Amino acid sequence: MASPVRLVVASSNAGKLREYQALAAGHVIELQLFPENDSLPAFEESAPTFAENAAGKALHYSRHAALPVIADDSGLVVPALGGAPGPKSARYAGPGASDAERVKKLLEELRGKSGEERRARFVCVQALAQAGKIIAVFSDFVEGVLLDAPRGGGGFGYDPLFLYEPLGKTFAEIPREEKNKFSHRGGAFRKLMAFIEESR
Ligand code: IMP
Repeated sequence: MASPVRLVVASSNAGKLREYQALAAGHVIELQLFPENDSLPAFEESAPTFAENAAGKALHYSRHAALPVIADDSGLVVPALGGAPGPKSARYAGPGASDAERVKKLLEELRGKSGEERRARFVCVQALAQAGKIIAVFSDFVEGVLLDAPRGGGGFGYDPLFLYEPLGKTFAEIPREEKNKFSHRGGAFRKLMAFIEESR
């Protein structure tokens, strides 16, 4: 097999990292974590779009890494809530809140909504940058319906509420490899891997 292309992933979200490791397994890409660096300020993901946050984060960390950096921004978009939680998905229930608290807050906001109003999509934008320059940006989304109570013990974040209709299961009720086949993150990462394979 050809020598691997090494990339640094700029993320500290354990759920996302496990999915990336599974996605890259057996492919040309070898993922490394961004090294612990207490003196480097964290990137503030405060832009109103996933793309700006992903690109900003990739640029920021690429200025401090020897290898190309991949950074993503992802979240849940609920049209009936005006697009919320959107790029604020990680902070929806305030700073330091848990996944369970965010799920609870979402259920509160959805109270009284039914049918089409419970449609949602997960969105993921991934940016690849090297030495302060964006190389490419990829995105994907997956559509589902939000249940009125969590189901399943796998996944992370809003997965237990997100019913993926073709399987009749939430993203928390299926194994990680199965979720990766259909998820926003899996779709965007497959585009990124194809780009890297074509450009080497
Ligand atoms: P960020 O991309 O690190 O800003 O965080 C995105 C947030 O969106 C996560 O903390 C989750 O709450 C949510 N999210 C993103 N992708 C997923 C997913 O695949 N499943 C469940 N929740 C997700």
